[in-house]
Amino acid sequence: MSDESQELGITESKSHKPGEWYAEVVQKANLADYAPMGGFIVTKPRGYALWEGIQDALDGWFKETGVDNVYFPLFIPESFLEREKDIVEGFDPEVAWVTQGGHEELEERLAVRPTSESIIAPFMADWTRSHRDLPLRLNQWCSVVRWEATETKPFFRTKEFMWQEGHTAHASNEGAWEEVWTRLGQYERVYEDVLAIPVLRGKKPEHDKFPGADTTTTVEALMPDGKSVQGATSHNLGQSFAEAFDITFVDEDEEERTAYTTSWGLSWRALGALIMTHSDDQGLVLPPTIAPTQVVIVPIWQEDTKDDVLEYSENIADELEDAGFRVELDDRDERNPGFKFNEHELNGIPLRLEIGPYEVEDEEVTMVHRPDNEESVEDREDIADSVDDHLEEIYDKLYDAAEETLEENVREAHSPEDILGTIGKHGGYVKTPWCGDEACEEAIKEKIAAEIVMQPLEDEGGSTAGEVPEPERDECGVCGDPADEIAYFAKSY
Ligand SMILES: [Zn+2]
Repeated sequence: MSDESQELGITESKSHKPGEWYAEVVQKANLADYAPMGGFIVTKPRGYALWEGIQDALDGWFKETGVDNVYFPLFIPESFLEREKDIVEGFDPEVAWVTQGGHEELEERLAVRPTSESIIAPFMADWTRSHRDLPLRLNQWCSVVRWEATETKPFFRTKEFMWQEGHTAHASNEGAWEEVWTRLGQYERVYEDVLAIPVLRGKKPEHDKFPGADTTTTVEALMPDGKSVQGATSHNLGQSFAEAFDITFVDEDEEERTAYTTSWGLSWRALGALIMTHSDDQGLVLPPTIAPTQVVIVPIWQEDTKDDVLEYSENIADELEDAGFRVELDDRDERNPGFKFNEHELNGIPLRLEIGPYEVEDEEVTMVHRPDNEESVEDREDIADSVDDHLEEIYDKLYDAAEETLEENVREAHSPEDILGTIGKHGGYVKTPWCGDEACEEAIKEKIAAEIVMQPLEDEGGSTAGEVPEPERDECGVCGDPADEIAYFAKSY
């Protein structure tokens, strides 16, 4: 192996140093780089392509279900932010302010949006006159800024992050609930069908819901290092924003009524979860559904076989491209096949086709799966069908591995020692009966930095809130008081 290909490779180990390993994969697979200001990153073309993959899927589903895209200003006047008191209290410590424009001091400070309810809601109020204007469904793809003083972790922790934020208004609470479940279902679908990551659906405990919300629902994904990632959230805001911003409408009986609103968002943290879940010590691993290049063809030739091998490879590349696959033919002269293999492994191309003189002679193709190097030889004739089958197999391998990790890592515990010991030893989720008191979460958090990441819901969906199921035992796993809820503790990102 040349020195160059060693430099290319990942040096840290995922199991021993997941944090360092993650940072190395992000940089060496050319997804992102650190910006000169702490807390900010530069998203490179290969990283942005992944974000676009998520956008394409979600944006299509949003539009199929009645959502229109809009764009609101980056800045929110302070007086607008103050109209809904929970938002101010919830976000105040993290808001970045603009106080000066050019050389002039501004009369009113402008917040760089931490979330856009406070600038969108007043316009929703303007646009909502009658029940015929409802439901009103808006979405914007943008970035927001939350000035957190934590270490930068590309896609997981940055002061500015890309996301989409949906904002809707409805005539009834039932309508708002249906909206909340539709969006949570779409988030679940993007994780499970595009990113190959199974998720748990549930709600956040009362003390951890979105500022101003009645209920915050969430999809949570378990990372291989045993920590939970909040994958996306969908909030029923009840009438708090509608009241603060006068979103009212005239109903069928000519009565003026207050609307119900929701908001819901998925950020590029989904990319963090994607990278963290599937990648390995050789670099990035991507499911074919989102990989910008799904198939790479590496021709292997000697001088006397070069023309035949290249022609055969080009034909296959054309045929696969025509069949709709994202294909790259790596016919670079200056690199040897070993170097190319390493590079494409590092970059996470799901399927590699190797073509040498033997393949040409036997009218075959050698196929290698990125996740586990499984190799098989297929006939040239049905190449598009074979590639399709192999890509599907690769997706299933990734999903099944993630599902196994999730299933193995939900454990029950019934005392503080048990909760602490189980999370300390295995990570993952610990399911326990809970009395509902935040103090019980604090007691665990203080000792092991694990918190209640979600509570399961039964009968979720439809037009109601869904109930947290009754625990089998009725004593809180922390304090022993009567408990009628279930909570999932975990360390989280
Ligand atoms: Zn308790």
